[in-house]
Amino acid sequence: MQTENPTTASWKALAGYARPYWRTLLAGGFLITVGGFVGLAQPLIAKRIVDALGNDETIRDPILLLIGLIVAGAIISAFGSYLLERTAESVVRGARMRLLDKVLWLRLPAMERTQPGDLMSRVSSDTTLLRQAATYGVVQGLTQSVMLIGIVVMMAYLDLVLLGVTLGVLLVMGGIVALAVPRIQRATKAAQESVGAIGAELERVLGAFRTVKASGAEEREQAEMATATHQAWAHGVEVAKWQAIAGTAAWGSVQIAFLVVLGVGGARVANGSIPVSTLVAFLLYLFYLVGPIGQLVEAIVQFQRGSAAMSRIDEVLSLEDERVETAQSVIEPAGGPVSVAFEDVWFRYRPELEPVLRGVSFSLPPRGMTALVGPSGAGKTTIFSLIERFYVPESGIVRLDGEDVEAAPLPQLRGMIGYVEQDAPVMAGTLRDNLRFAAPGVSDTEIVEAMERTRLTALLARLPDGLDTSVGHRGFTLSGGERQRIAIARALLRRPRLLLLDEATSQLDALNELALRETIADLATETTVLVVAHRLSTVTLADRIIVLEAGEVRAIGTHDELVDLDELYRELAATQLLTERVDSPVEPVAIS
Ligand code: ADP
Repeated sequence: MQTENPTTASWKALAGYARPYWRTLLAGGFLITVGGFVGLAQPLIAKRIVDALGNDETIRDPILLLIGLIVAGAIISAFGSYLLERTAESVVRGARMRLLDKVLWLRLPAMERTQPGDLMSRVSSDTTLLRQAATYGVVQGLTQSVMLIGIVVMMAYLDLVLLGVTLGVLLVMGGIVALAVPRIQRATKAAQESVGAIGAELERVLGAFRTVKASGAEEREQAEMATATHQAWAHGVEVAKWQAIAGTAAWGSVQIAFLVVLGVGGARVANGSIPVSTLVAFLLYLFYLVGPIGQLVEAIVQFQRGSAAMSRIDEVLSLEDERVETAQSVIEPAGGPVSVAFEDVWFRYRPELEPVLRGVSFSLPPRGMTALVGPSGAGKTTIFSLIERFYVPESGIVRLDGEDVEAAPLPQLRGMIGYVEQDAPVMAGTLRDNLRFAAPGVSDTEIVEAMERTRLTALLARLPDGLDTSVGHRGFTLSGGERQRIAIARALLRRPRLLLLDEATSQLDALNELALRETIADLATETTVLVVAHRLSTVTLADRIIVLEAGEVRAIGTHDELVDLDELYRELAATQLLTERVDSPVEPVAIS
């Protein structure tokens, strides 16, 4: 994904998140430094107090001064820390906003390559790793480097030989730190990947909770998650180990330098190359080196951990989205029914897979109902997905109202379609939220009217809080048939110019199905309706039927024509189940 050195790229990206706040970072760093200096003055005042006590002088002034300095130092440092923490939060917010903004606009093929649980962990957990890196990492990295350079310049001024000795020892330390740093990054990334794996596993299990229980799979799944949890721990420990090694190398090397300088310096004093005072001053500077070096190493470690998280964040940001096209247009108000045409459409889900549609062509006039039938896996849902432009055909053209859907702005295109998916998703929230989801502006009166059309009035009457009743996670408080009718009502409220129903009545009882069939037939007089149906009863109502098999259109015609002409259709019709669904009950419905 990255052409340059991955570390450099993520460091740059990390610095990019901190850049908008550089003034605040600078101010925060400055205040903390000033706070530190104010602290340094306190022992001097304390000395004055002791002196004054000895000389029988008044100590009121120095005490007031000391109190003033303590309070001022505390306030300045606290404000500096607050500024840095605040920036840290802003950096995390910035990364989260960018990720969330990206995720909602991902293209479906890109989305299919990700795992939702892992995506969630990138948004919630990886972003927090930027907190320290983009603030303290940056501030300390800069200030301590300046300090370090200052000290080295002073050392060079005192004695170049001793400086050479010191730098030699520090170079060894630098080598150890350089060894630790990439390992810290790798281990942090691996740890975060394990956290992502826990999220993905958890999402998988919670998404099929009843199946997990019914299969008695709790222990097996728990073991899977335990493995990921253990890996996160192991990688975390690895980070801790290398962090400790880097820290010790920094601290230890200064100690060693101290001894070596003492030895070499002593010899130089003995042979008269330098005066004792130079050696003493040099050793003092060496002593000052401990703080900056320790903090610099700490800053590098933080930065490295942040850059590991950054590369995971970047992976999401580089996924393909459809934002560019959607930003430029506005939803057009609804018009009349649209025509639909497929012209020699070839499509495969991924380049390495077999084509799912093989030269599909058909043309539907505006208005009227068309049924898509064919064995399961024939490509019916895929046809709907191409109309919605969730995917783009490999070759061929999909037209709505004569216009290539690839040329239409997405909001305009999707704005005119009402789509009821196969599994009729209902989201957590109230009944009203769910019904208004595809058309946020509709009134309660319109909602109630749509519910009447979809035979949901009894449900509404039964619910304690009416439209305000919460339907639970994925609508688990509702029956499958109710969810389907809610999904249909939701699509109707959009006042679609084209209605796509994917096995939308499969879970309804015979009575409700009959009623909805009438509703849909009614709708077909004012809008274009395309249904994937597995019940013969629905299909026989259609103005035309398209028979699909293995991605090809086998035949198009009315029920009577197809019974005469097409063998597959005759077989499907004879079993009553036009998509060979084995999970649906066979109903005795007369072939008209
Ligand atoms: P139908 O609706 O007729 O049952 P689909 O259009 O859902 O059939 O699927 C057609 C074929 O494409 C099937 O073989 C299915 O396994 C495959 N398929 C569907 N969705 C995807 C996807 N997102 N990625 C890869 N293959 C897919």
